[in-house]
Amino acid sequence: MAFDIDMIKAVYDRYPERIAAARKVVNKPLTLAEKILYTHLWEGEATQAFERGNSYVDFAPDRVAMQDATAQMALLQFMQAGKDKVAVPSTAHADHLIQAKLGASKDLQEGINKNNEVFNFLSSVCDKYGIGFWKPGAGIIHQVVLENYAFPGGMMIGTDSHTVNAGGLGMVAVGVGGADAVDVMAGMAWELKFPKLIGVKLTGKLNGWTAPKDVILKVADILTVKGGTGCIVEYFGDGAESMSCTGKGTICNMGAEIGATTSTFGYDDSMRRYLKSTGRADVVELADQVAEHLTGDAEVYANPEQYFDQVIEINLDTLMPHLNGPFTPDLATEVGSMTEKANANGWPLDVEWGLIGSCTNSSYEDLSRAASIAKQAVDKGLVTKAQFGINPGSEQVRFTAERDGLLKTFEDLDATIFTNACGPCIGQWGRYSDPKNAPKNSIVHSFNRNFAKRADGNPNTHAFVASPEMVAAIAISGRLDFNPITDTLTNKNGEEVKLDPPHGDELPTQGFAVEDNGYQAPAEDGSNVEVIVNPESERLQLLTPFDAWDGQNITGAKLLIKAEGKCTTDHISMAGPWLRYRGHLDNISNNCLIGAVNAFGGATNEVVNQLTGDKAEVPAAARAYKAAGVPTVVVGDHNYGEGSSREHAAMEPRHLGVRAVIVKSFARIHETNLKKQGMLGLTFANEADYDLIKEDDTFNFTDLADFAPGKQLTLEVAHADGSTDTIMLNHTYNAQQIEWFKAGSALNLIKAQAAA
Ligand code: SF4
Repeated sequence: MAFDIDMIKAVYDRYPERIAAARKVVNKPLTLAEKILYTHLWEGEATQAFERGNSYVDFAPDRVAMQDATAQMALLQFMQAGKDKVAVPSTAHADHLIQAKLGASKDLQEGINKNNEVFNFLSSVCDKYGIGFWKPGAGIIHQVVLENYAFPGGMMIGTDSHTVNAGGLGMVAVGVGGADAVDVMAGMAWELKFPKLIGVKLTGKLNGWTAPKDVILKVADILTVKGGTGCIVEYFGDGAESMSCTGKGTICNMGAEIGATTSTFGYDDSMRRYLKSTGRADVVELADQVAEHLTGDAEVYANPEQYFDQVIEINLDTLMPHLNGPFTPDLATEVGSMTEKANANGWPLDVEWGLIGSCTNSSYEDLSRAASIAKQAVDKGLVTKAQFGINPGSEQVRFTAERDGLLKTFEDLDATIFTNACGPCIGQWGRYSDPKNAPKNSIVHSFNRNFAKRADGNPNTHAFVASPEMVAAIAISGRLDFNPITDTLTNKNGEEVKLDPPHGDELPTQGFAVEDNGYQAPAEDGSNVEVIVNPESERLQLLTPFDAWDGQNITGAKLLIKAEGKCTTDHISMAGPWLRYRGHLDNISNNCLIGAVNAFGGATNEVVNQLTGDKAEVPAAARAYKAAGVPTVVVGDHNYGEGSSREHAAMEPRHLGVRAVIVKSFARIHETNLKKQGMLGLTFANEADYDLIKEDDTFNFTDLADFAPGKQLTLEVAHADGSTDTIMLNHTYNAQQIEWFKAGSALNLIKAQAAA
């Protein structure tokens, strides 16, 4: 019995009617992406056609997935919603916090010791609220989701950008910020701009050394890291059907690297095989009944130019293995062209490490194909030149690979088998004691991202992304420009030997096996479960609800900072070492706006505390105002809050007493996040009024009692010289969002409604 089979059945039961309704309003053949989107409208059956790339639409996702780093604040917030249980099936996965260093057993224990309080919190909060918890060592979120939860035609959101991996099983799966996950878990709609659609037609068949990874490396080459922004990429054609389901997962996974909203494939036999092999024959049975709806219409695929916003065609017969990098995943080099390119760019040709695994490429097929290369190295008397690291994607894959001798094959090459966790893919790699001063070098891995410092913290590490089988071949050769199709290697006996092309099993012939998959089911009734947070913890802090609006105009407010130029969510809430505190609002608030450039003087993290006249760091000034009971405002430039959907960027100012953020324009997601936290996110009706704001101004709202959709608010700006300016402010609050403001936050309102 698959997890949540009743939910999946309910989704499929409504497919025929909803598709019929969508056909009526769209009035043309439908792509798969459109079918999934239109069957998951919050409003139910479609009553209007949406404009791609323009309409904001409310959706009702089927499930939510969270990883341990982002789950902390999401679940702390969910606790504020006053619900007994999550509204949709949800899971949390302990995968990001475990360092790879010595090998799985030691590293896992060390990871548990270091992060015990976070894991205990997640375990208990999941137990209480009906959320499945995958314990440390159980695997990487996206591999576990693919093995257990993804289903064709479903819609999922996840608090991780590679949630898109589930497109390999025909889902629309989208990476979101914690606030969106909280909404859906609390029973609210999830808003998304209706995406544009890119069709990728795959013809031919992969062969020789070429793997599914090379498809997405090629797509990244064509579209670049920005080319998929705001789009769903839909793959189709006989080449798509000829690939394994997990291979499709790899391709969708790295859709994040081209900025795509998500990527997906139509339901086919590879998905049937995968579902059956992972114990979900019941899902196949249900999916088969609506199979015609789980792929794009034939007419769409016959004339893709008519139905997609952009079409790309790739012939798998002639596609070559690629290495993409360094420092960006869209810098593609075909195997065979590397020598010249590396020499021209000064990329080190000696490769020090080959890393296989991550959520991107840790399927059984990936490991078995890479192992087929590793085995040849042993059999042909080759000595591996680079070091090998393997991080399996799940305990199920690891256990099965061990049973089938695949791990032993890697160990014969002195590979280190790391924990089933993200490890080196997210910088959790104990490679160096002093990474900043580590030497220039090259590594090759089958992960998805290769930005500077991502794997090992060393800015001089040149990381190249390739398929697992290419990683194996290159690690054995120790040469970045090794071309296994043409080149030979010298073995221990001085003989020249050649590696045969990889081979492997798409799925284990004896089936998957696992003793303990690491899953913790939640309590049936969590009412007596206590959520474990140590009040002394520096990493976790239970949230206190933000105060409701007192019904009075906000007056006597001081300027915390007038930000000039770019002010992204990273400027508002920096990442890096601060991520350690992402479950502790008060501690992480010490990074609040420290990256914003002060319009008065041009410095960062330096403002004047108007209460004392002294210079102060932004968070310190905010705390001083808050302690004195003085409200504050933040003033900003254009596109304020662009970047990520990080909810901390809205929560921190709110926590530190900022009542209004007034800017020339907002990045939409951040604007919504401010609204959710009960803040006033406002824009200057007259942009030039930004210039009127002086460092020592006092701000008085005069008509907050009349706060209404479409109606401007009035702000009196009192200058220190006794003069005043009255300026008008625009806003985009609807009636519901104004209620969020009045209640103090969206969650306060949900809680009040739940209690009513
Ligand atoms: Fe993210 Fe890497 Fe973990 Fe995948 S393996 S979820 S890309 S950190």
